[in-house]
Amino acid sequence: LYVDHPLGKEQSVPLSREQAHYLFGVMRLAEGAVLSLINGTDGEWDAEVIQAGKKGGILHCRSQTRSLEMPPNLWFLFAPIRKERTAFIVEKAVEMGAAHIIPVQTAFTQSANRIRQDKLRAHAIEAAEQCGGTFVPAIDDLTKLDRVLADWPTDRQLMFCDEQLIGDPVVLPNLKGPWAILIGPEGGFSPAERTKLRGLPFAYPVSLGPRILRADTAAVAALTIWQQALGD
Ligand code: SAM
Repeated sequence: LYVDHPLGKEQSVPLSREQAHYLFGVMRLAEGAVLSLINGTDGEWDAEVIQAGKKGGILHCRSQTRSLEMPPNLWFLFAPIRKERTAFIVEKAVEMGAAHIIPVQTAFTQSANRIRQDKLRAHAIEAAEQCGGTFVPAIDDLTKLDRVLADWPTDRQLMFCDEQLIGDPVVLPNLKGPWAILIGPEGGFSPAERTKLRGLPFAYPVSLGPRILRADTAAVAALTIWQQALGD
């Protein structure tokens, strides 16, 4: 279970009404039961149910079962698309080990595709829980792509997924150091963005094969290529 609360030896953790409903109503846990907790920063802890009520409850941390396991240092940049597909992208990025998720506004990002950070955070937590992760990546607010590129750290390489490179093989330099992936919106990148991205010294344009993939498919394909070639 994910909790938004510090975890540590003998730490008490209060439960919200929703958490109490899930644990005691749905999962039928009773006082004395032990469950695993994560909070995204303190690793995984066994905690005992001390108080089980309809409107809340209290858990007590007993022992740490795993320390915090950081994923590889990958940034995942994507232009938000429709709500449920954006949620899918965030979920897959967490499962595949992204350390930081950065939604970017590009020229062709539809203004209707606003993101709800809290909702995306909930999807990220669920994804971390389901794949047994102890870390939950931060999700930035929507930021203009130009702005993100202007503040780019000098040591980070960018795998720029360019739909106009159709068919060319993926060639990534096997450089040490941190990476980022960039996936465009439904309408792809504008000519000006493409020209700029192709000219950046840290950006490597990459093809994901001979067909134009949906943005959510492209996200999974790019994460897989990155993991296979460079990640762990
Ligand atoms: N209209 C479709 C949709 O609704 O999702 C296609 C979107 S595609 C233009 C979105 C992004 O996926 C592109 O900007 C690019 O980053 C990535 N992408 C898709 N196919 C690709 C390919 N064959 N090679 C490289 N990148 C690709």
